[in-house]
Amino acid sequence: MRNRLFSLVLTLVAGLLVVLGGSMPANVASPQTVPPSAASPVEVDLTHVAYAGTVYLTFDDGPNPTYTPKVLAILRKYGVKAVFFELGQNISYYPSITRNLRSYGMKIGNHTWSHPDLTTLSTSSVIWQLNKMESALGYRPRCVRPPYGATNSRIQTIIANRGQRHILWTVDPRDWSRPGTWTIVNRVLANVRDGSRILLHDGGGNRSQTVAALDLLIPRLRARGYVLGLMAC
Ligand SMILES: [Zn+2]
Repeated sequence: MRNRLFSLVLTLVAGLLVVLGGSMPANVASPQTVPPSAASPVEVDLTHVAYAGTVYLTFDDGPNPTYTPKVLAILRKYGVKAVFFELGQNISYYPSITRNLRSYGMKIGNHTWSHPDLTTLSTSSVIWQLNKMESALGYRPRCVRPPYGATNSRIQTIIANRGQRHILWTVDPRDWSRPGTWTIVNRVLANVRDGSRILLHDGGGNRSQTVAALDLLIPRLRARGYVLGLMAC
């Protein structure tokens, strides 16, 4: 009995010493720098990796026979997926380009049939624009982006009643105005944040600056710690 008590006291003292000793060194790396799932006993130094968040690339106004395949080639080169908000009219001209995007895991969003300002149309005309695009595509995509970002509560309600998501953007480098390749890159880098939806264009005109900018932009976003995600569309 006395021996048992003695060993219990010893165990308690030893435990106390471990607790005190363990808390003493103040310069041990904080637990945040070690991934919780790390099985290796070797400490992993992640202090140089600054995870900045996830950002999303979106491309409007395609499909375009010249620029959409070039955009796709760059996305494939970097292993990035994106949402393409397409016009039904363009899908009817180039259905194989849209099929090709999908076969590489890209998502298609509804950008209407012919790119009108939806806020100027009657509700039945808005629905016609959306349905006509979807008949060209062959299914109802989850996401709708009103042309020009022109929207109001009526348009949002129409889209919600169809079971679709109303998706605008948070970063607009105005690539369509062809301000110069580096201007497009720098405008995105200056405004990007965690969760940004970046608006670019693969159709609607000469998009060679957008294509060149994309090739520069993806590695720079990654170097800043951003992960390029795919929106649920
Ligand atoms: Zn557009």
